[in-house]
Amino acid sequence: MGKSSNLKEPLRTQFASDNYSGICPEAWAALEKGNKGHSRGYGEDSWTESVSDRIREIFEIDCEVFFVFNGTAANSLALASMCNSYHSILCHEYAHIERDECGAPEFFSHGTKVLLLPGQNGKVNPRAIEEEVLRRSDIHYPKPRAVSITQATEFGTVYTIPELQAVQEMTRKFHLRLHMDGARFANAVACLGVAPKEITWKVGVDILCFGGTKNGLGVGDAVVFFDHELAREFEYRCKQSGQLASKMRFLSAPWLGLLENDVWLRNAQHSNQMASLLEKRLAEIPGVSILFPREANSVFAELSRPVIREMNQRGWIFYSFIGDGGCRFMCSWDTTEDDVNQLADDLQELTALHHKE
Ligand SMILES: *Cc1c(COP(=O)(O)O)cnc(C)c1O
Repeated sequence: MGKSSNLKEPLRTQFASDNYSGICPEAWAALEKGNKGHSRGYGEDSWTESVSDRIREIFEIDCEVFFVFNGTAANSLALASMCNSYHSILCHEYAHIERDECGAPEFFSHGTKVLLLPGQNGKVNPRAIEEEVLRRSDIHYPKPRAVSITQATEFGTVYTIPELQAVQEMTRKFHLRLHMDGARFANAVACLGVAPKEITWKVGVDILCFGGTKNGLGVGDAVVFFDHELAREFEYRCKQSGQLASKMRFLSAPWLGLLENDVWLRNAQHSNQMASLLEKRLAEIPGVSILFPREANSVFAELSRPVIREMNQRGWIFYSFIGDGGCRFMCSWDTTEDDVNQLADDLQELTALHHKE
């Protein structure tokens, strides 16, 4: 960014993130359709209205929908609408809102503290919610007000309905709001094969940040309010934070391409399947261990330093930030079986080489 770069693009040999991928053809076509003549600005257009209606149809409830530019804004503004500055938000210690948003949730809520909870496989342990709430209740401590969970999680796992119900039990018991970071919500729905309502408002989710970017859009995530009171004046929050698109139809129209004919679910099914194939291939390689149960579109594996280095030298791009040697391989809507097999072939070859040494 801003610096001269010697990167060769386009990249093909990448499993770094699903946001490296392009816009899927259906979203692209819908964007082009939206580019006809003039429409009202700031979300008063028919495209935005149609997508919002489609989202209400998908969730089978009268929810309120807003579009912002990215997931960080969606999460931060959603959480700010739930909390006052003296409150706290409980989330998993590896949550995106804690680790990857540069303090935006605290910034936009004017100081609401994010408190971290443990939990296996990237999922909040419901008992940890109780412990954290009961730990202190005096006036000197930021009052717990909201729980934030990520579905699918940062570790590629998915909360089941009973697991969500266990979280809901705690939020009910302690009068906490429930926020869901759904940057990969589509992958969770595709994995579980349930109606979207079963893992959102039916289990007490007040606001869902419904990500489209990683599923095949170029830009623009949806904030879905199941609680109408929380949505009051949300448009002012969006405007003040620079998140109200004036030509809103260019955020919303591509969503129509994604949501018509269940393209969003097909894209998610595909990336989940590619991750499943990759998991199968990696599990067969001696010296490679899978770190978390693969449920969505990513596989985490432990590789040795020399193998990581040589994979990078061969041009493979992936994250290796989990502990010492924990690597993340993320599949996208356009990852092919060939991509997966080539990656696995190289890993197999290099691992065997270093195993012998
Ligand atoms: C990608 C992602 C987001 C959104 O990130 P932006 O870069 O702000 O769009 C939010 N939560 C999770 C878990 C993510 O992976």
